[in-house]
Amino acid sequence: MAKQKRGHSLWNLPTRGRGTCPICGATRIKLLYPRTPTGSRKTIQVCKRCSVAPQSKIDAVV
Ligand SMILES: [Zn+2]
Repeated sequence: MAKQKRGHSLWNLPTRGRGTCPICGATRIKLLYPRTPTGSRKTIQVCKRCSVAPQSKIDAVV
């Protein structure tokens, strides 16, 4: 399978996979990692750094 977080496959995504991370506020960063806040049924897309952030960080923002 092709890499889904690198290269031209990203260009098919809305905003080409980039945006402002809701957790750390980094702009124009790739938002490719889904995290689910505790008690929520929907996921949010976060950047690579925040993909490994503790759950409390995710919950604090949402
Ligand atoms: Zn982030």
